Amino acid sequence: MQKKGDIKERIEELRRERKAVILAHNYQPPEIQDLADYTGDSLGLARKAAEVEAEIIVFCGVHFMAETSAIVNPGKITLLPEPGAGCSLANTVTPEGIVTLKNLRPRAAVVTYVNSSAAVKAVSDYCCTSGNAVEVVEAVEAPEIIFTPDGNLGRYVRRVTGRELIIWEGCCPVHDRITAEMVRERKSEFPSALVIAHPECREEVLELADVVTSTSGMFRVVEESGAREVIVLTEAGMGYPLGKRFPGVRFIFPVAEPLCPDMKLITLEKVERTLRELEPRVTVPENIRLGALLAVERMLAIG
Ligand code: SF4
Repeated sequence: MQKKGDIKERIEELRRERKAVILAHNYQPPEIQDLADYTGDSLGLARKAAEVEAEIIVFCGVHFMAETSAIVNPGKITLLPEPGAGCSLANTVTPEGIVTLKNLRPRAAVVTYVNSSAAVKAVSDYCCTSGNAVEVVEAVEAPEIIFTPDGNLGRYVRRVTGRELIIWEGCCPVHDRITAEMVRERKSEFPSALVIAHPECREEVLELADVVTSTSGMFRVVEESGAREVIVLTEAGMGYPLGKRFPGVRFIFPVAEPLCPDMKLITLEKVERTLRELEPRVTVPENIRLGALLAVERMLAIG
């Protein structure tokens, strides 16, 4: 078995040889985030991949994120070190399900959260992220909107925009497991802490938060607030990049830490093997890629 230091050196050599870029999601294990050229949320990383010159992208995250990278970077090789890293939320919706619903509500536009497969994006009209879902829904002119696949995010967007949404009842089990009781418990322990929550959390949890924002938004909120104690209601991997960026701030998660097992499947060994073998690759058939890209581009046009 190789020592950690040896593996890191080997990864560095391979990264240089292959002229590869390594991207890691904010929920990845610390040693993977430390290795990455860029860390961030799923769409931010896919867009970063489009900006860099590297022809090979090692995406340390889950499958739909690597697919999103492949959608916006068709000429590049996208590698996912653990092909079994999936997303329970993305798995709650299928393209067939969307098409059936669209047939029932032909006047509706479909807005799909980025946490979905390329095939689902391809039958959607707009893509959105947790950071821009409100703006995207506000900009849609269709008389009805089908919002997929996250029910909690859909209800949050409905409350903020006042628009009536037909909501697909999927959820992220990691965020949905955070209860109001868990938040109250932390608030009573840290009464002066700022509470920030990801909109994939339940409605009653969001009601207890001072700010509801995406993972990228969390960095901005902490910076602007000047808070010294922050209760963070999202996947506990966020504690690492937040702690690195704001060493003087105490970040507090629910006692039963919300952890996404799929996000923890990538290891240094798997990154090394991926760079060596240039496998496993994530590809999207061209007809699906073009449909999905349209939904992503419509979102980007909204800003
Ligand atoms: S945290 Fe939730 S939404 Fe994110 S990858 Fe895991 S299951 Fe999917």
